[in-house]
Amino acid sequence: MYSIDTLLEKLYIENNLQKDELAWLIGNISDEEKESLFDYALKTRRRYYGNKVYMRGLIEFSNICRQNCLYCGLRASNSKVERYRLTREEILDCCREGYGLGYRTFVLQSGEDPWYTAERLGDIIRGIKSLFPDTAVTLSIGERSYEEYKELLGAGADRYLLRHEAASRELYEKLHPDMDFDNRINCLKNLKSLGYQVGAGFMVGLPGQTPQHLAEDLCFLKKLEPHMIGIGPFIPHSETPLAGEKGGTVEDTLVMLAIARLLVPDSLMPATTAMGSLHKKGRELALKAGANVVMPNLSPVSVRAKYEIYEGKICTGDEAAHCRHCIEGRIRSAGFEADMGRGDSVRLNTSL
Ligand code: SAH
Repeated sequence: MYSIDTLLEKLYIENNLQKDELAWLIGNISDEEKESLFDYALKTRRRYYGNKVYMRGLIEFSNICRQNCLYCGLRASNSKVERYRLTREEILDCCREGYGLGYRTFVLQSGEDPWYTAERLGDIIRGIKSLFPDTAVTLSIGERSYEEYKELLGAGADRYLLRHEAASRELYEKLHPDMDFDNRINCLKNLKSLGYQVGAGFMVGLPGQTPQHLAEDLCFLKKLEPHMIGIGPFIPHSETPLAGEKGGTVEDTLVMLAIARLLVPDSLMPATTAMGSLHKKGRELALKAGANVVMPNLSPVSVRAKYEIYEGKICTGDEAAHCRHCIEGRIRSAGFEADMGRGDSVRLNTSL
Protein backbone atom coordinates (compact mmCIF):
# COMPACT_ATOMS: atom_id res chain seq x y z
CA MET A 1 0.00 0.00 0.00
CA TYR A 2 1.36 3.39 -1.00
CA SER A 3 -0.17 6.88 -0.96
CA ILE A 4 -0.53 8.01 -4.59
CA ASP A 5 0.06 11.67 -3.65
CA THR A 6 3.33 10.76 -1.96
CA LEU A 7 4.41 8.67 -4.95
CA LEU A 8 3.61 11.48 -7.39
CA GLU A 9 5.54 14.02 -5.35
CA LYS A 10 8.53 11.71 -5.09
CA LEU A 11 8.40 11.02 -8.83
CA TYR A 12 8.29 14.76 -9.53
CA ILE A 13 11.09 15.72 -7.17
CA GLU A 14 13.45 12.73 -7.50
CA ASN A 15 12.61 11.63 -11.07
CA ASN A 16 12.59 8.07 -9.84
CA LEU A 17 10.41 5.35 -8.31
CA GLN A 18 10.92 1.67 -7.57
CA LYS A 19 9.30 -0.90 -9.84
CA ASP A 20 6.69 -1.92 -7.24
CA GLU A 21 5.83 1.71 -6.60
CA LEU A 22 5.33 2.28 -10.32
CA ALA A 23 3.12 -0.80 -10.66
CA TRP A 24 1.05 0.37 -7.70
CA LEU A 25 0.73 3.86 -9.14
CA ILE A 26 -0.36 2.52 -12.55
CA GLY A 27 -2.89 0.14 -11.03
CA ASN A 28 -4.45 2.56 -8.55
CA ILE A 29 -4.27 6.15 -9.80
CA SER A 30 -7.65 7.98 -9.78
CA ASP A 31 -8.85 10.45 -12.41
CA GLU A 32 -8.13 13.38 -10.12
CA GLU A 33 -4.64 12.11 -9.36
CA LYS A 34 -4.04 11.69 -13.10
CA GLU A 35 -4.60 15.43 -13.50
CA SER A 36 -1.86 16.20 -10.98
CA LEU A 37 0.43 13.67 -12.69
CA PHE A 38 -0.14 15.47 -16.03
CA ASP A 39 0.56 18.84 -14.36
CA TYR A 40 3.85 17.58 -12.95
CA ALA A 41 4.79 16.18 -16.38
CA LEU A 42 3.93 19.47 -18.09
CA LYS A 43 5.92 21.52 -15.58
CA THR A 44 8.90 19.20 -16.06
CA ARG A 45 8.85 19.37 -19.88
CA ARG A 46 8.58 23.18 -19.62
CA ARG A 47 11.66 23.28 -17.41
CA TYR A 48 13.70 21.47 -20.09
CA TYR A 49 12.08 22.45 -23.38
CA GLY A 50 9.90 25.47 -22.61
CA ASN A 51 6.82 25.62 -24.76
CA LYS A 52 8.44 24.14 -27.86
CA VAL A 53 7.16 21.21 -29.86
CA TYR A 54 9.68 19.85 -32.36
CA MET A 55 8.51 18.88 -35.85
CA ARG A 56 10.00 15.84 -37.64
CA GLY A 57 9.21 14.91 -41.22
CA LEU A 58 8.40 11.19 -41.40
CA ILE A 59 9.21 9.25 -44.56
CA GLU A 60 7.83 5.70 -44.60
CA PHE A 61 10.09 4.43 -47.35
CA SER A 62 9.31 0.70 -47.44
CA ASN A 63 6.57 -1.49 -45.98
CA ILE A 64 8.43 -4.71 -46.80
CA CYS A 65 9.26 -6.63 -43.64
CA ARG A 66 10.97 -9.91 -42.84
CA GLN A 67 9.65 -10.01 -39.25
CA ASN A 68 6.37 -11.33 -37.92
CA CYS A 69 5.50 -9.19 -34.89
CA LEU A 70 2.05 -10.38 -33.80
CA TYR A 71 0.59 -6.87 -33.52
CA CYS A 72 1.85 -5.26 -36.72
CA GLY A 73 -0.12 -5.00 -39.98
CA LEU A 74 3.13 -5.04 -41.98
CA ARG A 75 4.20 -8.47 -40.66
CA ALA A 76 5.69 -10.75 -43.32
CA SER A 77 2.79 -13.22 -43.14
CA ASN A 78 0.18 -10.60 -44.02
CA SER A 79 -0.27 -11.34 -47.72
CA LYS A 80 -3.04 -8.72 -48.08
CA VAL A 81 -0.59 -5.81 -47.90
CA GLU A 82 0.36 -4.25 -51.19
CA ARG A 83 4.11 -3.94 -50.69
CA TYR A 84 6.14 -0.94 -51.87
CA ARG A 85 9.65 0.39 -51.65
CA LEU A 86 10.56 3.99 -52.48
CA THR A 87 13.68 4.54 -54.58
CA ARG A 88 16.62 6.71 -53.56
CA GLU A 89 15.37 9.51 -55.80
CA GLU A 90 11.83 9.27 -54.39
CA ILE A 91 13.19 9.50 -50.85
CA LEU A 92 15.36 12.51 -51.77
CA ASP A 93 12.27 14.12 -53.35
CA CYS A 94 10.39 13.74 -50.05
CA CYS A 95 13.32 15.45 -48.33
CA ARG A 96 13.35 18.26 -50.91
CA GLU A 97 9.68 18.88 -50.33
CA GLY A 98 10.14 18.62 -46.56
CA TYR A 99 13.10 20.97 -46.55
CA GLY A 100 11.05 23.50 -48.52
CA LEU A 101 8.33 23.24 -45.90
CA GLY A 102 10.91 23.97 -43.20
CA TYR A 103 11.68 20.53 -41.77
CA ARG A 104 15.20 20.07 -40.40
CA THR A 105 14.80 16.49 -39.20
CA PHE A 106 13.91 13.60 -41.48
CA VAL A 107 12.84 10.30 -39.98
CA LEU A 108 13.35 7.38 -42.36
CA GLN A 109 11.13 4.52 -41.24
CA SER A 110 10.45 1.11 -42.78
CA GLY A 111 9.76 -2.52 -42.11
CA GLU A 112 12.86 -4.71 -41.86
CA ASP A 113 13.52 -4.66 -45.59
CA PRO A 114 16.70 -6.63 -46.42
CA TRP A 115 17.01 -5.04 -49.88
CA TYR A 116 17.89 -1.80 -48.14
CA THR A 117 21.39 -2.80 -47.08
CA ALA A 118 23.52 -0.44 -45.00
CA GLU A 119 25.37 0.38 -48.22
CA ARG A 120 22.24 1.44 -50.10
CA LEU A 121 20.87 3.32 -47.11
CA GLY A 122 24.24 4.93 -46.46
CA ASP A 123 24.18 6.24 -50.00
CA ILE A 124 20.78 7.86 -49.38
CA ILE A 125 21.85 9.37 -46.06
CA ARG A 126 24.95 10.85 -47.72
CA GLY A 127 22.66 12.21 -50.44
CA ILE A 128 20.41 13.91 -47.87
CA LYS A 129 23.35 15.32 -45.94
CA SER A 130 25.07 16.74 -49.00
CA LEU A 131 21.87 18.40 -50.20
CA PHE A 132 20.84 19.60 -46.75
CA PRO A 133 23.80 19.73 -44.36
CA ASP A 134 21.79 21.49 -41.65
CA THR A 135 19.38 18.61 -41.15
CA ALA A 136 19.33 15.62 -38.78
CA VAL A 137 18.58 12.14 -40.09
CA THR A 138 16.79 9.67 -37.84
CA LEU A 139 16.54 6.00 -38.78
CA SER A 140 13.78 3.63 -37.68
CA ILE A 141 14.46 0.44 -39.61
CA GLY A 142 14.63 -2.25 -36.96
CA GLU A 143 17.34 -4.66 -35.92
CA ARG A 144 20.71 -4.61 -37.68
CA SER A 145 24.22 -5.73 -36.81
CA TYR A 146 26.73 -3.54 -34.95
CA GLU A 147 28.69 -3.16 -38.19
CA GLU A 148 25.65 -1.96 -40.12
CA TYR A 149 24.73 0.55 -37.40
CA LYS A 150 28.33 1.76 -37.56
CA GLU A 151 28.25 2.10 -41.32
CA LEU A 152 24.98 4.07 -41.19
CA LEU A 153 26.39 6.37 -38.51
CA GLY A 154 29.47 6.90 -40.65
CA ALA A 155 27.20 7.84 -43.58
CA GLY A 156 25.76 10.65 -41.45
CA ALA A 157 22.76 9.23 -39.52
CA ASP A 158 22.28 11.11 -36.25
CA ARG A 159 19.51 9.34 -34.40
CA TYR A 160 17.89 5.91 -34.22
CA LEU A 161 14.44 4.88 -33.04
CA LEU A 162 14.06 1.29 -31.94
CA ARG A 163 11.26 0.72 -29.50
CA HIS A 164 12.12 -2.07 -27.08
CA GLU A 165 8.38 -3.01 -27.38
CA ALA A 166 8.29 -4.92 -24.08
CA ALA A 167 10.95 -5.03 -21.37
CA SER A 168 9.49 -8.22 -19.94
CA ARG A 169 11.15 -11.15 -21.68
CA GLU A 170 8.03 -13.26 -21.24
CA LEU A 171 5.71 -10.67 -22.84
CA TYR A 172 8.26 -9.88 -25.57
CA GLU A 173 8.53 -13.55 -26.53
CA LYS A 174 4.74 -13.93 -26.72
CA LEU A 175 4.50 -10.99 -29.10
CA HIS A 176 7.54 -11.99 -31.18
CA PRO A 177 7.66 -15.79 -31.32
CA ASP A 178 10.53 -15.84 -33.86
CA MET A 179 12.58 -12.97 -32.48
CA ASP A 180 15.26 -12.75 -29.82
CA PHE A 181 14.67 -10.48 -26.84
CA ASP A 182 18.39 -10.26 -26.08
CA ASN A 183 19.13 -9.15 -29.63
CA ARG A 184 16.66 -6.27 -29.41
CA ILE A 185 18.18 -5.05 -26.14
CA ASN A 186 21.69 -5.48 -27.55
CA CYS A 187 20.75 -3.42 -30.60
CA LEU A 188 19.77 -0.55 -28.29
CA LYS A 189 23.01 -0.87 -26.34
CA ASN A 190 25.04 -0.95 -29.56
CA LEU A 191 23.29 2.13 -30.91
CA LYS A 192 23.96 3.99 -27.70
CA SER A 193 27.61 3.00 -27.47
CA LEU A 194 28.18 4.00 -31.11
CA GLY A 195 27.01 7.51 -30.27
CA TYR A 196 23.55 7.75 -31.85
CA GLN A 197 20.84 9.72 -30.11
CA VAL A 198 18.69 6.74 -29.29
CA GLY A 199 14.94 6.26 -28.91
CA ALA A 200 13.25 3.35 -27.16
CA GLY A 201 9.63 2.82 -26.16
CA PHE A 202 6.62 0.57 -26.08
CA MET A 203 2.91 0.17 -26.78
CA VAL A 204 0.19 0.45 -24.15
CA GLY A 205 -2.75 -1.97 -23.96
CA LEU A 206 -1.13 -5.06 -25.44
CA PRO A 207 -2.93 -8.33 -24.71
CA GLY A 208 -1.66 -9.78 -21.46
CA GLN A 209 0.09 -6.53 -20.44
CA THR A 210 -0.29 -5.84 -16.70
CA PRO A 211 0.71 -2.84 -14.52
CA GLN A 212 3.74 -4.93 -13.53
CA HIS A 213 4.80 -5.23 -17.20
CA LEU A 214 4.33 -1.49 -17.73
CA ALA A 215 6.37 -0.79 -14.59
CA GLU A 216 9.11 -2.96 -16.10
CA ASP A 217 8.98 -0.93 -19.31
CA LEU A 218 9.31 2.31 -17.36
CA CYS A 219 12.21 0.98 -15.24
CA PHE A 220 13.92 -0.17 -18.41
CA LEU A 221 13.64 3.37 -19.82
CA LYS A 222 14.95 4.88 -16.60
CA LYS A 223 17.98 2.61 -16.76
CA LEU A 224 18.68 3.04 -20.49
CA GLU A 225 18.09 6.81 -20.36
CA PRO A 226 17.37 7.14 -24.07
CA HIS A 227 17.30 10.58 -25.68
CA MET A 228 13.89 9.83 -27.19
CA ILE A 229 10.93 7.82 -25.91
CA GLY A 230 8.08 6.63 -28.14
CA ILE A 231 4.95 5.47 -26.34
CA GLY A 232 1.66 4.87 -28.13
CA PRO A 233 -1.51 2.83 -27.76
CA PHE A 234 -1.67 -0.63 -29.32
CA ILE A 235 -4.34 -0.60 -32.04
CA PRO A 236 -5.40 -4.02 -33.34
CA HIS A 237 -5.10 -4.80 -37.04
CA SER A 238 -7.62 -7.24 -38.54
CA GLU A 239 -5.02 -9.10 -40.64
CA THR A 240 -2.87 -10.08 -37.63
CA PRO A 241 -3.14 -12.77 -34.94
CA LEU A 242 -4.17 -10.03 -32.47
CA ALA A 243 -7.18 -8.99 -34.60
CA GLY A 244 -9.80 -9.69 -31.94
CA GLU A 245 -7.97 -7.97 -29.07
CA LYS A 246 -9.08 -4.81 -27.30
CA GLY A 247 -6.24 -2.38 -27.82
CA GLY A 248 -4.94 0.43 -25.63
CA THR A 249 -6.75 3.58 -24.52
CA VAL A 250 -5.78 7.23 -24.84
CA GLU A 251 -6.07 7.64 -21.10
CA ASP A 252 -3.75 4.77 -20.17
CA THR A 253 -1.22 5.99 -22.74
CA LEU A 254 -1.30 9.51 -21.29
CA VAL A 255 -0.46 8.12 -17.86
CA MET A 256 2.54 6.25 -19.31
CA LEU A 257 3.74 9.32 -21.23
CA ALA A 258 3.54 11.48 -18.13
CA ILE A 259 5.41 8.99 -15.94
CA ALA A 260 8.08 8.55 -18.64
CA ARG A 261 8.49 12.36 -18.80
CA LEU A 262 9.12 12.41 -15.04
CA LEU A 263 11.52 9.45 -15.08
CA VAL A 264 13.60 10.77 -18.01
CA PRO A 265 12.86 14.50 -17.75
CA ASP A 266 15.03 15.67 -20.67
CA SER A 267 13.68 13.15 -23.20
CA LEU A 268 12.11 13.94 -26.56
CA MET A 269 8.71 12.25 -26.69
CA PRO A 270 6.39 12.25 -29.70
CA ALA A 271 2.66 12.77 -29.49
CA THR A 272 2.11 9.79 -31.78
CA THR A 273 -0.13 9.46 -34.81
CA ALA A 274 -1.62 6.41 -33.06
CA MET A 275 -2.91 8.79 -30.34
CA GLY A 276 -4.41 11.05 -33.00
CA SER A 277 -5.98 8.01 -34.66
CA LEU A 278 -7.77 6.91 -31.47
CA HIS A 279 -9.05 10.34 -30.44
CA LYS A 280 -9.63 13.64 -32.29
CA LYS A 281 -7.50 15.47 -29.75
CA GLY A 282 -5.21 12.57 -28.89
CA ARG A 283 -2.03 14.36 -29.89
CA GLU A 284 -2.98 17.59 -28.12
CA LEU A 285 -3.71 15.60 -24.95
CA ALA A 286 -0.33 13.89 -25.28
CA LEU A 287 1.41 17.28 -25.53
CA LYS A 288 -0.35 18.36 -22.34
CA ALA A 289 0.82 15.19 -20.58
CA GLY A 290 4.52 15.71 -21.35
CA ALA A 291 5.09 14.93 -25.05
CA ASN A 292 7.14 17.49 -27.01
CA VAL A 293 7.58 16.15 -30.56
CA VAL A 294 5.25 15.55 -33.51
CA MET A 295 6.06 13.62 -36.67
CA PRO A 296 3.93 14.78 -39.60
CA ASN A 297 4.00 12.54 -42.65
CA LEU A 298 6.18 13.40 -45.66
CA SER A 299 5.62 10.12 -47.54
CA PRO A 300 4.13 10.40 -51.03
CA VAL A 301 0.33 10.29 -50.78
CA SER A 302 0.32 7.36 -53.22
CA VAL A 303 1.93 5.03 -50.64
CA ARG A 304 0.56 6.43 -47.38
CA ALA A 305 -2.36 4.02 -46.97
CA LYS A 306 -0.06 1.05 -47.64
CA TYR A 307 2.03 1.74 -44.55
CA GLU A 308 -0.69 0.33 -42.35
CA ILE A 309 0.89 -0.89 -39.10
CA TYR A 310 -2.55 -0.51 -37.49
CA GLU A 311 -5.99 0.23 -38.92
CA GLY A 312 -7.71 3.60 -38.82
CA LYS A 313 -4.45 5.54 -39.23
CA ILE A 314 -5.18 9.22 -39.85
CA CYS A 315 -3.80 11.62 -42.47
CA THR A 316 -3.27 8.95 -45.14
CA GLY A 317 -4.78 11.18 -47.85
CA ASP A 318 -3.17 14.49 -46.92
CA GLU A 319 -0.40 16.29 -48.77
CA ALA A 320 2.72 17.09 -46.74
CA ALA A 321 2.02 20.82 -46.75
CA HIS A 322 -1.47 20.19 -45.41
CA CYS A 323 -0.08 17.98 -42.60
CA ARG A 324 2.43 20.61 -41.56
CA HIS A 325 -0.19 23.34 -41.26
CA CYS A 326 -2.77 21.07 -39.63
CA ILE A 327 -0.32 19.97 -36.95
CA GLU A 328 1.00 23.45 -36.37
CA GLY A 329 -2.57 24.59 -35.71
CA ARG A 330 -3.08 21.77 -33.24
CA ILE A 331 0.15 22.62 -31.42
CA ARG A 332 -0.91 26.25 -31.13
CA SER A 333 -4.43 25.41 -30.01
CA ALA A 334 -2.97 23.23 -27.24
CA GLY A 335 -0.94 26.25 -26.02
CA PHE A 336 2.47 25.32 -27.44
CA GLU A 337 4.76 26.64 -30.15
CA ALA A 338 5.93 24.62 -33.17
CA ASP A 339 9.72 24.61 -33.67
CA MET A 340 11.07 23.67 -37.08
CA GLY A 341 14.73 23.44 -35.95
CA ARG A 342 16.73 20.21 -35.67
CA GLY A 343 15.51 19.90 -32.10
CA ASP A 344 18.36 17.89 -30.61
CA SER A 345 18.15 16.55 -27.09
CA VAL A 346 19.12 19.21 -24.51
CA ARG A 347 21.33 16.55 -22.96
CA LEU A 348 23.78 17.02 -25.84
CA ASN A 349 24.38 20.65 -24.90
CA THR A 350 25.02 19.90 -21.25
CA SER A 351 27.51 17.13 -22.00
CA LEU A 352 29.73 19.38 -24.13
N1 SAH B 1 10.51 -1.91 -38.30
C1 SAH B 1 10.83 -0.80 -37.45
C2 SAH B 1 9.74 0.24 -37.39
C3 SAH B 1 8.45 -0.33 -36.83
S1 SAH B 1 7.00 0.66 -36.94
C4 SAH B 1 11.24 -1.31 -36.09
O1 SAH B 1 11.23 -2.51 -35.85
O2 SAH B 1 11.63 -0.51 -35.25
C5 SAH B 1 7.16 1.64 -35.50
C6 SAH B 1 6.41 1.18 -34.27
O3 SAH B 1 5.01 1.03 -34.51
C7 SAH B 1 6.80 -0.15 -33.70
O4 SAH B 1 7.99 -0.07 -32.99
C8 SAH B 1 5.60 -0.51 -32.83
O5 SAH B 1 5.81 -0.16 -31.46
C9 SAH B 1 4.47 0.34 -33.42
N2 SAH B 1 3.34 -0.51 -33.88
C10 SAH B 1 3.40 -1.61 -34.64
N3 SAH B 1 2.18 -2.17 -34.77
C11 SAH B 1 1.33 -1.40 -34.05
C12 SAH B 1 -0.07 -1.47 -33.76
N4 SAH B 1 -0.84 -2.45 -34.23
N5 SAH B 1 -0.61 -0.50 -32.97
C13 SAH B 1 0.15 0.51 -32.51
N6 SAH B 1 1.47 0.62 -32.73
C14 SAH B 1 2.07 -0.34 -33.49
